[in-house]
Amino acid sequence: MASAVLKVNQSKIQEMQQYYSNYLQTKVPQGGIFTAKPPSCSVTAYKSGKVLFQGKDAEIEAKKWGETIPSKAKSSSIKSIDGYAPPEHIASMSIIGSDEVGTGDYFGPMTVVAAFVSKDQLLELRSLGVKDSKNLKDNQICEIAKSIIPVIPHSLLILHNDKYNEMQKKGMSQGKMKALLHNQAINHLIKKVKNVMDVEGVLIDQFVVPDIYYKHIQSSPKDWKGKTFFSTKAEGVHMSVAAASIIARYAFVKEFDKLSDKAGFELQKGAGAKVDQIAAKLIRTKGEEALKHFTKLHFANTEKAKKLV
Ligand code: MG
Repeated sequence: MASAVLKVNQSKIQEMQQYYSNYLQTKVPQGGIFTAKPPSCSVTAYKSGKVLFQGKDAEIEAKKWGETIPSKAKSSSIKSIDGYAPPEHIASMSIIGSDEVGTGDYFGPMTVVAAFVSKDQLLELRSLGVKDSKNLKDNQICEIAKSIIPVIPHSLLILHNDKYNEMQKKGMSQGKMKALLHNQAINHLIKKVKNVMDVEGVLIDQFVVPDIYYKHIQSSPKDWKGKTFFSTKAEGVHMSVAAASIIARYAFVKEFDKLSDKAGFELQKGAGAKVDQIAAKLIRTKGEEALKHFTKLHFANTEKAKKLV
């Protein structure tokens, strides 16, 4: 999406708010003064003096008010507007990290883990082999998970497909389910951590922009009152996310194996063509009804499998 950023003073922001008064929105992001949606684009002014224009005519609309910040500087200024980017020294801080697994797999549940890694444990975790799980095989992940589970305070949530499909059918997006589960896992973990004062921040492996994340969880309790950071590829940003990711993957693999046992044959991870074939086999042996227990029904695999039968 096209965007443009301006830096203006507070009286200019007031003037803009007046100008867009017919288009003001009730929801304003954290740190924001107003959000307006005139026909051409959306406009959000922040207390910092930054004004963000988004939409196809963002640049034109922004230029009505002054010179926009050039695009290279823009991306970093958007980050600072948001204020959700992790600080540079985060790797050495005591952090709760959260991550999820299974969202792209047709078979098997979605698992979400929040894990607390204090700065005293960073070296220990490294020696146990904790690193970005994308570079690890499932059997390595399971070994590492078993060794860190007893030493890392964590909270694991498993969303089985019966429930997943029920929520999806009611119109809930996968993004919202993730947000609710991340928040819930963090809430649970806050209650488990002996000294919450030790927690210097929460880092979420970003799956959606922070504003949308907070919109999803707006009517949920939030037990964490401190700083929350968002980062994509957060497994590489702090050990706690790497640990959360490993535990979540381990839980997913265990549940997946249980499902294979129930099916009577080995299921397939992912959502590719092989998955369609296995799903077709499942329909033939257990009936179409069984899919809602084993699979994420709204995936395109469902229709493809039915065609194969
Ligand atoms: Mg993730």
